[in-house]
Amino acid sequence: MELSAEISKISGIGPKFVKQFEKLKIKTVKDLLWHFPFRYDDYSKIVPIGELAINQPATIHGVINKISIRRSWKKNMIIVEALIIDDTGGIKAVWFNQPYIGKILHQGSEANFAGKIISSKNEIYLSNPTYEVTSSRGSSGAMNGPKHTAGVIPVYPETRGITSKGIRFILKPILKEIDHIDDFMPPEILKKYVLPEINLAIRKIHFPLNLSEAEGARKRFAFEELFLLQLNNLKIKSKLAQEKAIALDVDVDYLRKLTEELPFALTESQKKSLHEIISDIKKPRPMNRLLQGDVGSGKTVIAALAAIMASKNGKQAAFLAPTEVLAQQHFQTITKLFPEFDHDVCLLTGATADKKTILRDVENGVFKIVVGTHAIIQKGVKFKELALAVVDEQHRFGVEQRATLLRNQKLVPHFLSMSATPIPRTLSLTIFGDLELSTITELPADRKPIVTKVVAPENRQKAYGFIEEQIKKGRQAFVICPRIEPGQQEEGKILTEMQKKMLELKSVKQEFEKLSQQIFPKLKLVMLHGKMKSKEKEQIMKDFKDKKFDILVSTSVIEVGVDVPNATIMMIEGADRFGLAQLYQFRGRVGRGVHQSFCLLFTDSTSDTVQRRLNSLLTAKNGFELAEKDLELRGPGQFMGETQTGFPDIAMRALQNMEMVKSARSAAEEIFSNDPDFKNHPLLSVRFKKFEKQIHLE
Ligand code: ADP
Ligand code: MG
Repeated sequence: MELSAEISKISGIGPKFVKQFEKLKIKTVKDLLWHFPFRYDDYSKIVPIGELAINQPATIHGVINKISIRRSWKKNMIIVEALIIDDTGGIKAVWFNQPYIGKILHQGSEANFAGKIISSKNEIYLSNPTYEVTSSRGSSGAMNGPKHTAGVIPVYPETRGITSKGIRFILKPILKEIDHIDDFMPPEILKKYVLPEINLAIRKIHFPLNLSEAEGARKRFAFEELFLLQLNNLKIKSKLAQEKAIALDVDVDYLRKLTEELPFALTESQKKSLHEIISDIKKPRPMNRLLQGDVGSGKTVIAALAAIMASKNGKQAAFLAPTEVLAQQHFQTITKLFPEFDHDVCLLTGATADKKTILRDVENGVFKIVVGTHAIIQKGVKFKELALAVVDEQHRFGVEQRATLLRNQKLVPHFLSMSATPIPRTLSLTIFGDLELSTITELPADRKPIVTKVVAPENRQKAYGFIEEQIKKGRQAFVICPRIEPGQQEEGKILTEMQKKMLELKSVKQEFEKLSQQIFPKLKLVMLHGKMKSKEKEQIMKDFKDKKFDILVSTSVIEVGVDVPNATIMMIEGADRFGLAQLYQFRGRVGRGVHQSFCLLFTDSTSDTVQRRLNSLLTAKNGFELAEKDLELRGPGQFMGETQTGFPDIAMRALQNMEMVKSARSAAEEIFSNDPDFKNHPLLSVRFKKFEKQIHLE
């Protein structure tokens, strides 16, 4: 059977299944084989009934002593109950709403039963166990070794009508029928990093004999994604290294004079980052660098100094912000800090009034530093000689956006991205592996620490009173709400972005109503959420900044980087539901003015782990430390948005494994340095092209 065959070709898969499989994005045999388990239950040891432990998954082997079907009228359910015995004792097994089980299993059936031992209402029983008949009276017992019990049992992402058991049932015969799969991974790499070959790996990932076989197979599939990603990074880097950029002449003495005239002294890591950027833009190769640093760490000044250098060379720089408010903020910062260059800087946003004149002067090269929103990269904007592009709060500057900036340019501009989102190291080495990194690790010394408190439920009223007091003194407050947890959500089931936003909206609305009607009826509150249009959001932020409201109730979408120095309170509801790095980011919204600021973390959870986790926010030195912790505790999804990456789950999880990230990087370097066009690796060449396409679609 060919891998590209549609699953309808598989015997036993009718139109109904085809539809259901489609929900799991499975259309072909290949898709089905690449639908990997997200976990394995280890039932490899058969446990004597007398030694079962409560709340543990286990497999027992026994004989059915008694079996009955009854209807529970109260719960409107059909319940099958069986008493299973072995030499050491007996235990009840209970199946809910699976009446057919009563027809398959009989008194005297000998079988394996795998499930969890539950204790409830003074009863101990095996709940909904999977079973596999090993010998029986009356029923067909033909077996090819156990598929569902007594081994390592894979658990798959499921959907209505398609269970893990069903998937396993379909997969087993297919693996015998499929054609040989060509392995695109270079054999020398597989050998060096001790990874299984593809045909073996695809079998072991679905039907491992033990957990270590499963691990080996998973490692291979994760490794290949990281390997491709690293190849992609190397390729982007080498391509850029062949491009030409404007080599800027940097007069060190002049730069020193400029920094000495600033109203503050640069921090050590600001100096280091500046140095790294300057040595890049002096080269005739385009810079591709990410400047990371906490909110308020002073990234803008550093980027602005680079822009000033372009201007000093008679060349131009573009300074791109995600919103109108931020663009204005940058414009003000630059003109205030570098008054000497006042006439070189212009602001270009959707709201700019005399656009025509400005566009003309940008084209003529009168304006050297153009600060603005996406209006900068729209049609009709032409630079005379663009040497540098600075992009704020956007990790990635899209290929197309780059292309627009390149229009009419003989040379490629140097690129500098700025971000306050702390990225753990494994991620910066992979997802952002094509970028060079500069990191500002400390805040300026003059910052007052923000008083951070975890508020227990019994102190909620007191905290509200405190907030009201602050507002009466003229301050403002942010309130952040988490998304409502989607109740009894099945493991492995995926919510769409839209569903998530709906849940978020519901929660912010509830909180807004409660606060504005019951808690603070006399104050002016406003609400902000992800389903609003960006114009609307910007207006609200602007109004809040202009003190038209006392409290801003928001989801986690709250605009990055906006400076509201008068806001001194950051109150976070359901703090335990956010990542640490994210909480840290929220807190960075306050503490930007002269007044003492406060961050209040509300949680209903009394669990020790939650308390400990939240408390690490009180001691953390910077956001990176917390990002590493988050990655460990919550996985990489939160850093990238779970659904939009197009990066398989198995590789996402591997991003937690520094060892593997490093190995994949070395492997990619080995191949790329000897065979950059994959001439000696034709299968890899085909696979890599596909990978590139998938990445660009992101
Ligand atoms: P970021 O963009 O990293 O969030 P900004 O560049 O907006 O931070 O800086 C925040 C504020 O701190 C600005 O008002 C800026 O002028 C000021 N600032 C920057 N560097 C320093 C420094 N070394 N010492 C004191 N203040 C600084
Ligand atoms: Mg900023």
